[in-house]
Amino acid sequence: MFEDLIRALENLDGRQVSVSIPADADGYLDRACPSEVCLFEFKIHEDDWRDKVRDEEVFCPFCRHSAPSDQWWTEVQIEHAQQAAFGEVTGEINEAMKRDADHWNRRQPRNSFLRITMSVDHKPRHIALPPSAAEPMELKITCPECGCLYDVIGAAYFCPACGHNSVDRDFARSMESLLASLDAIAHVRRAIEDRDVAENTIRAIIESCLVNAVMAFQRYVEALYLRKPGAAVPRRNVFQNLNNGSDLWRQACGHDFEHYLGAGKLADLTRYFQQRHLLAHKDGLVDADYIQRSGDSSYMEGQRIVVKEEGVRQCLALVEELARGLEADAPDGDARDE
Ligand SMILES: [Zn+2]
Ligand SMILES: [Zn+2]
Repeated sequence: MFEDLIRALENLDGRQVSVSIPADADGYLDRACPSEVCLFEFKIHEDDWRDKVRDEEVFCPFCRHSAPSDQWWTEVQIEHAQQAAFGEVTGEINEAMKRDADHWNRRQPRNSFLRITMSVDHKPRHIALPPSAAEPMELKITCPECGCLYDVIGAAYFCPACGHNSVDRDFARSMESLLASLDAIAHVRRAIEDRDVAENTIRAIIESCLVNAVMAFQRYVEALYLRKPGAAVPRRNVFQNLNNGSDLWRQACGHDFEHYLGAGKLADLTRYFQQRHLLAHKDGLVDADYIQRSGDSSYMEGQRIVVKEEGVRQCLALVEELARGLEADAPDGDARDE
């Protein structure tokens, strides 16, 4: 009596249900990095997804994980596809059961003492609506290499179509956001009533700005350096140390860092870089290496360094000045973004 149902179930084997995923108001598709440790969500223009992205390889803008183009579904899209497939399948099964039941009922003799009828709760098919694409994001990016249009929230470093590293733009944005954090200190002081909490928070902001300024510089200069055709891959973190970084740069581009900054400013910047090292690795406690490498004789071993807002502002200005000088001398400088 369940012939139709059995047939319907047999039909489901290997069935494909196609689901369409719409773009947002600006024509961008939602995508997500398939790497389980990342899952970064971004948007890419639908034309570029079709024309610029290669089937075999798409790059995550955040972590540069690469995977074939059929693996970049967002969680919302996967849920939607499952619902749509489920809706279609349950619809078919319901209809088959209804037909079986009707058939059974028709075969029941009308005049018998006992009459059994079957009924199937025949709900209308569940039709899933396409997920409305997430709201357009704030930062629209055009890859300077391949022209691909994509869109992210927060930081992104790589073009999804060609994997190009967008460090130039990222460096400028890092500098802006560090200055904005310093500018917010006055608000923090007003907003937090408890003076201990306020001062601790402010100190954390100031020190993290110093650490992040050095990281932004390191990352940017490493990328500038790697533009040199045939440049050897630099030792890890070499540009965290101004002496070593300067030597490497001179070998590649002809000038050392002093050429761009002058001896006095370079000495100031060296001190800030060494302070970052203490903050990152020694809980801010001064050791003999710090005194020797920074030339800073205002501390004794075992003291904690004091980092002030004015100092970090000066450090940011020096980082910016040095980076601009290096940028102008970097190979292929005119291929830069913006
Ligand atoms: Zn990723
Ligand atoms: Zn690109």
